[in-house]
Amino acid sequence: MHPQPVNALTTAENQHVSLDAVRTMVSACIQCGTCTASCPNALEMDLTPRKMWRLVILGRLAEVMASRTFILCSDCYTCTLRCPRGLPLTTAMEALKGIAFARREARHRSSRLFYETFMQTVRRYGRIRELAFMTRYFTAMKNPMAPLRFAPLGMKLMGKGKVEMGSGKSGETPLHALFDRVAALDRTSLETAAREGHR
Ligand code: SF4
Ligand code: SF4
Repeated sequence: MHPQPVNALTTAENQHVSLDAVRTMVSACIQCGTCTASCPNALEMDLTPRKMWRLVILGRLAEVMASRTFILCSDCYTCTLRCPRGLPLTTAMEALKGIAFARREARHRSSRLFYETFMQTVRRYGRIRELAFMTRYFTAMKNPMAPLRFAPLGMKLMGKGKVEMGSGKSGETPLHALFDRVAALDRTSLETAAREGHR
């Protein structure tokens, strides 16, 4: 059993997580709006990426955490490729997810549990196993209505043979060592970025 956090998204140990590291990543933003114009998910976001970076630079943690913008980022890297300042915007979006999850923000609870249980399943089996993943997720949600919401989609996927039943054909290849190594590397890089932000 490995009940500890599964990746850098949840490695912070308390709720006093600051925006320092992310602010360092986007501090050279010139507010040109290219990231917003390039983002395929911007129309669904409550704050555009450009506004999000402005709030980060201003250190407005509560407003940033209240947004679903970083949750809706699908890591497509388009903004990162197109930003004229060459800023690591996708990494910054992921770092915001990490802060929200580490702070146990109530608004992002279901997203956090989804990420955590997904990654716990990959860590345990070396791949995703749909039934094991959904069982973990529904248990973590502690909401008896949650399975009902997913039932139509689940039935559809099962009908198309997209859900592997039972333990599946492939063996288990646990990835505990790999996950631990990545978490350590991410922790180091966030600490370095935060230190540089204080210089
Ligand atoms: S594309 Fe880069 S410089 Fe332009 S608003 Fe977005 S983060 Fe700032
Ligand atoms: S990486 Fe995220 S924020 Fe950037 S364009 Fe893609 S979905 Fe939008």
